[in-house]
Amino acid sequence: MIKFLALGGADDVGANCFYLNIFGTGLLLDCGAHPRKKGKESLPQFDLIKNEPLDFAIISHAHQDHIGALPFLVQEFPHVIIYSTYQTKEIADLTLHNAANILAQEISLEEGLRNYTHEEIDLLVKSMRDIEYNKSFELCGLRHSLNEKIKITLTDAGHILGAASVIIEIAGQKIVYTGDINLSNQTLMQGADISPFANSSILLTETTYGATDSEKLGGWGGEAKRFAKHANKVLHSGGSVLVPVFALGKTQELLATVYNLMQRKILTEATIYTGGIGKEISNIYDRNRYLVNYCNKELVLKDIPQNNVLDVEDLNIFKKNPGIVIASSGMILRGTTSYKLAEYWLKQSNFGIFGVGYMDIETPGYKIMNAKKGENILLSETSEQQKVLCEIERFYFPSHSRREDLLTIAKKSNASKIILLHGETEAKNWIGYHLLEQKKSIKLYSAEPGKQISLV
Ligand SMILES: [Zn+2]
Ligand SMILES: [Zn+2]
Repeated sequence: MIKFLALGGADDVGANCFYLNIFGTGLLLDCGAHPRKKGKESLPQFDLIKNEPLDFAIISHAHQDHIGALPFLVQEFPHVIIYSTYQTKEIADLTLHNAANILAQEISLEEGLRNYTHEEIDLLVKSMRDIEYNKSFELCGLRHSLNEKIKITLTDAGHILGAASVIIEIAGQKIVYTGDINLSNQTLMQGADISPFANSSILLTETTYGATDSEKLGGWGGEAKRFAKHANKVLHSGGSVLVPVFALGKTQELLATVYNLMQRKILTEATIYTGGIGKEISNIYDRNRYLVNYCNKELVLKDIPQNNVLDVEDLNIFKKNPGIVIASSGMILRGTTSYKLAEYWLKQSNFGIFGVGYMDIETPGYKIMNAKKGENILLSETSEQQKVLCEIERFYFPSHSRREDLLTIAKKSNASKIILLHGETEAKNWIGYHLLEQKKSIKLYSAEPGKQISLV
């Protein structure tokens, strides 16, 4: 008996958390927090597995939407044994502490939810078991009903440092959970090798870019040149460029991209600004560059000349000395560095805000990216109308698979049962339609929180 149940993250890019009951062993795949929601609303619905066995959790990578709720899981299920790659564990040590600081202000007033302490995170991270890519190990829960144990293998998913796809094998069944997966090379991370997915029976696949035309996504090389062209225009007019990025993944990739473009004289040399936790994560990238599939092992991020954006007291420096500012958050969420800078940037007609990654609908980043010059926008409910005077440009440096690549993954896996997750309805619809076109006989499911799917 193998049962699947989504506790969150099924119908959008949210609190990813998927429960499997595998012959009596309870296994969670990921335990994320929704980046846009607050308090209990941002967490997976742990209540749904109150009466189910839970023995293990495997974290695919350290983005908040896959790991953010882990400290709350441990509060409710202290006995759960957690696995991840070594790199994910190292990053989690930084990001979970960082998230605790933010959460402390947000959830103190909420009923039924207790924030976790830094000591608890230390304990949690220390107890995480780190696993090497492609080295299989075995699991077996307390109420496991078969003599055969569950074999687990983590493979490099090419999305960010430490990202893994999870392969689960038992009783002739092979289940593949893609996690966030990318088949193409970025500037630093190499695309995933999906050959280990062959001969699967069940595929749990992300669908992030299912609704996005791949022609729009372009390729990293072409987008880098287009980025340089637009950035040159802004820099030559005496303005600065703001690049809102996720601290984990996009910061490192964009820093490497911008530096490479400057080295090749494609992009005008200007001061590069980074800062905050993104800079610390860059050090983890540097340390692990020989241990993972990495495109540019010679490039050391911390050796790239960069100023700390958090040291800037007077924002007018960006008028006097044009620069490129790589700052989180990626979706320009309120209270973050990129939000504070964006408020200033929007007022400067010769400045530019360049979006480079995924922007969730309803976020300030989404509003800015979809605004026209001269238009008035409302960044948040409590802010005042603001006129968009600066240049707004949208670039695509994807760290998720193009939708055709998702079909390739399904084809390669040859799975007869496929569950679609981690995508909005439109994205799942496109993928579902084309999967059925590719192979009529598959059983297709769309994950919905609370809806149990019996797989075997
Ligand atoms: Zn991710
Ligand atoms: Zn994700």
